[in-house]
Amino acid sequence: MTRVIPPGSTLGVLGSGQLGRMFAIAARRMGYRVHVLSPDDDTPTGQVADLEIRAAYDDLDAVAEFARVVDVVTFEFENVPLSATERAERFAPVRPNGAVLHTTQNRIREKTFLRDSGVPLAPFAVVRSGEELLSAVEQIGCPAILKTADWGYDGKGQVRIASRSEAAAAWEARRGTEYVLEALVDFQCELSVIAARGLDGSTVTYGPIHNSHSQHILDVSVMPALVSPSIAADAVDIARNISGRLDIVGVLCVEFFVTCDGKLLVNELAPRPHNSGHLTVDACATCQFEQQVRSICGLPLGSPRQHRPAAMANLLGELWNPCQPNWERALEQGEVKLHLYGKSLPRPGRKMGHLTALADTSELAKNKVQVTRDLFCTACA
Ligand code: AMP
Repeated sequence: MTRVIPPGSTLGVLGSGQLGRMFAIAARRMGYRVHVLSPDDDTPTGQVADLEIRAAYDDLDAVAEFARVVDVVTFEFENVPLSATERAERFAPVRPNGAVLHTTQNRIREKTFLRDSGVPLAPFAVVRSGEELLSAVEQIGCPAILKTADWGYDGKGQVRIASRSEAAAAWEARRGTEYVLEALVDFQCELSVIAARGLDGSTVTYGPIHNSHSQHILDVSVMPALVSPSIAADAVDIARNISGRLDIVGVLCVEFFVTCDGKLLVNELAPRPHNSGHLTVDACATCQFEQQVRSICGLPLGSPRQHRPAAMANLLGELWNPCQPNWERALEQGEVKLHLYGKSLPRPGRKMGHLTALADTSELAKNKVQVTRDLFCTACA
């Protein structure tokens, strides 16, 4: 029998961005209390939590104090140090567990785990020295992408390599110590599947979701993705399989490339709700954040059923430049929902919020969300 953590209990979240905010909103709606720990204050999560603790993740005394008074700990980004989850685990279950975090916070460990699990991936090689990079270039070929093993997201820490001489220059300019060199994938589209897995191993999935990026940052997501039923079924199977092998309790996002010759390759994993799943808040019976609450609390998962085709567009800081977006014009659109994350500084590239549009078809939803976002830019009148 799994022990249920009932409403009224306190959920602890490590990390304080928009993912934690939407998790906290779902948790509070269900009658839970939420404590958040991160190095910042007045954060997107802290603004809606019951308690915001400002401390570094490696301040293990602060992590212990935080974990001592909560019933379960989760996280909203994967770069929490293992020492923090290990310390928290002494006082409360950490879900997903620290081993999942350890695997997914480093590209070498993640890709090795995926390859050993028989998951299809782009060819890659581990690189820890200039010589290893040159032999990796021989093995993988060019063009290729050199990615830092740690701390990479939204294309950060990635360099495209077109030739052996570029490889040498990239190595000279390196910042980190461990890398993977990955073949550049000629893809027709990018997809994601989000799996929520309960304490009892029951699993539900969303997607595949079709994702378009701009400058390496997710721009627009659409669900259902317009892909063949066999690609859709294979993507869902792969995501279920990975979430089971990792023994996830919580939410896992699996990102895929669909190659030009129609093959699925896994790009990367995120053991938490994902930007591409934000549209589940407005489009589905149960959203990805509620599933995170249910799963870490040992409750039955909710139905992932989608009510309407949906599209999500990110709102980045540049939309606030040179002046505030035109809220009125944009929000005149029917079946469009605005989500803002409570961030006061709209820096370029910073995710400030998103829009979700619902419509009769995926194409119409995508069109509507893009038109609405364009209307934000007709400000300064
Ligand atoms: P990542 O941080 O690895 O998810 O990369 C961010 C984005 O860069 C991906 O969503 C792709 O659009 C692009 N990208 C990453 N790896 C590759 C690759 N091996 N081939 C082609 N595009 C890639």
